Amino acid sequence: MTDEPDTDDTRRARLILGLRSQGVTDPNVLGALEQTPRDLFVPDLFLDRTWEDSALPIACGQTISQPFIVGLMTQALTLEPRSRVLEIGTGSGYQTAVLARLARYVYTVERYRTLMGEAEKRFKALDLTNIITRFGDGAEGWRDQAPFDRILVTAAAPGEPRELLSQLKPSGVLVAPVGRGPVQSLMRYAGDGKGDFKVETLCDVRFVPLLEGVAREL
Ligand code: SAH
Repeated sequence: MTDEPDTDDTRRARLILGLRSQGVTDPNVLGALEQTPRDLFVPDLFLDRTWEDSALPIACGQTISQPFIVGLMTQALTLEPRSRVLEIGTGSGYQTAVLARLARYVYTVERYRTLMGEAEKRFKALDLTNIITRFGDGAEGWRDQAPFDRILVTAAAPGEPRELLSQLKPSGVLVAPVGRGPVQSLMRYAGDGKGDFKVETLCDVRFVPLLEGVAREL
């Protein structure tokens, strides 16, 4: 035994194993997490915490999600290689990059120009060419590009996200944190193909709120 500190590779491998033991078992999802360098998305100040399973602060008072939650939400989406996905709340772009490895196209909307710009640079650096970005109010979805096969919301919606559900294909899946308090329910809406949804509550989560409109500052 030596007292040498763990390398990033060791920490990354340990994180992935931890996610698997907590229920992220889809090998494709685990593979996408393994291939996505989270250190590229974490602010310099928190680099030493990159491979911890925790949410971390990013610019504009927002957060990069906890890897377990990214894995869980991605798995709950049941993506297919041909899926066109809408993501609301680009943030650092980490979740977007994970989705981009599993889906055909990812359309992502962010209400802070700064965050959008930084995320775009990361997508370029990683050569992720199937991501289409937009600065705007994600609560409105992306009507010109609807309907989508899958929709993922990474900020807490106050109630059932009706507008977004209307932009989902009849057999599509939408995953979103729903609730007004500090703790929300992670909800999964699966279309039955006939205009109705099977609604499931997956677990409790803590997300920043989905805010109205675009941010004036930054
Ligand atoms: N998936 C992100 C987590 C981002 S936190 C990551 O892995 O880094 C949630 C993000 O949703 C924040 O960046 C916030 O600015 C954004 N957001 C909140 N309300 C929004 C809205 N109405 N439209 C678009 N983005 C919104």
